[in-house]
Amino acid sequence: MTSRLTVLSGPTAVGKGTVTTALAATHPDVFVSVSATTRPPRPGEVDGQHYLFVSEAEFDELVSSGLLLEWAVVHGVHRYGTPRAPVVAATESGRPALLEIDLQGARQVRTSWPEARFVFLAPPSFDELQRRLVGRGTETPAQRERRLQTAHAELEAASEFDAVVVNVSVEQAVADLVALMGL
Ligand code: 5GP
Repeated sequence: MTSRLTVLSGPTAVGKGTVTTALAATHPDVFVSVSATTRPPRPGEVDGQHYLFVSEAEFDELVSSGLLLEWAVVHGVHRYGTPRAPVVAATESGRPALLEIDLQGARQVRTSWPEARFVFLAPPSFDELQRRLVGRGTETPAQRERRLQTAHAELEAASEFDAVVVNVSVEQAVADLVALMGL
C-alpha cells in the first residue's frame, strides 16, 4: 500500500512539471499533490490548483504544526512544501500518489517514507537543460544562473534514485513513469 507513493524529482527546468501535468491529464486516478509555496503566483497560476499560495507566516504555521511531509527553500528564495494529510489519505485509500518536488524534499521523503518509489527525471544533456531554462523565460538572468548552478549539482544525485527517466519527449517520459508506477 505504501509503495503507492511515487516521488518525481530532478534538476530545475528538466520538465518535471510538464510531465506531471501530462500524467495527471491521462491518469485522473492518480492523486497529484498540490504543494504549498511562499512564491507569488505567476500569470495564469491558480491558487489551490498549481500551488497553495501562502504567506511566510502561513508557511511557518504549516511547518510548526507538522502538517508538511517535507519542505525546502528552493533556489535560495522561496519555500515549498508538501501537505502531508492529502498524500496519506490518498495512499491509504489505495490511490496511487505522485509528488513532484526538488531534490532536498525527495531526500526528506526518502527518510520519512522509505517505501516510496523515487524517480529521477534527467535531461538528455546539460546543454539541453540550459536551453530549456533560457527558453522558458520566466527567470531573470541572475535567477537563471543560480538555477543552473543548482542543476549541475543536482544531476549528480541521479544515483540516489530507484529509477532514472530521461526526458527526451514528454510522451515517452510519461509512458516510462506510468510503467514505473505500475498504472
Ligand atoms: P517553480 O517555482 O518553478 O514552480 O518550482 C520550483 C521548484 O520547486 C521545482 O523544482 C519544483 O520541483 C520544486 N517544488 C515544487 N513543489 C515542491 C514541494 O512541495 N517541495 C519541494 N521540496 N520542492 C517543490
